[in-house]
Amino acid sequence: MRKRPYGDADYVLTLFTREYGKITAFAKNAKTSRKRFGGRLEPFVLFRVRFRERPGDMKFVEDLETIEVFRRLMEDIELFMWGSFLSESVEILLPKESPNEDMFSLFADTLREIDAGKSAMPLVLGFQLGALSLSGYGPSLDACAECGGETGKGARFSIRKGGALCAGCAEGLQNGTPYSGDFLKDRESMEIHLGRVLRYIKLFLRFTEYHTEKKLNSSKFIEELKI
Ligand SMILES: [Zn+2]
Repeated sequence: MRKRPYGDADYVLTLFTREYGKITAFAKNAKTSRKRFGGRLEPFVLFRVRFRERPGDMKFVEDLETIEVFRRLMEDIELFMWGSFLSESVEILLPKESPNEDMFSLFADTLREIDAGKSAMPLVLGFQLGALSLSGYGPSLDACAECGGETGKGARFSIRKGGALCAGCAEGLQNGTPYSGDFLKDRESMEIHLGRVLRYIKLFLRFTEYHTEKKLNSSKFIEELKI
């Protein structure tokens, strides 16, 4: 997901792994030893990684083998930003070293589909909903977060209250956003109404930041995006 230079020769890598979840590991001499590290320590690359653990919890990467490179995500600036947003979301939603295979699959599959040229925003929105739910932050989407009733017509979404509110509970609500649970399940409609998809992406981005009490670096880019 990320690399940070450490001294002259090393990198500290943040990796999202299928088996161990999110981990931090040293890649010793990675700047010079291209053979051991496959030459490409970049985000949006799927590796097979072998590491060893030293007492005191430090992990050292032994070697890396490249499995799959999501090339368009690296080369297209807008796709790069979406990919970075996904990656940062995983970083703030998951605690360290807590395996989450479903999240790993969701992350890799979404990157793969965006890389294959599918329309990015509906995929990003689908990823947000999946990732929030898999990390235990999932908003209430179908039932009213207040009374548990159906949401339906006149529903609004409240970030503070943790989800959708029915028309009755939403009465007098400040800052509630008009909300449709049906739209979020309708992929075809999403492809046509990308502006609406973007509004939902921004909504769930704010929801994520509010409930994790963390800031995403890519939020500025997304908040400024217009269709
Ligand atoms: Zn209600």
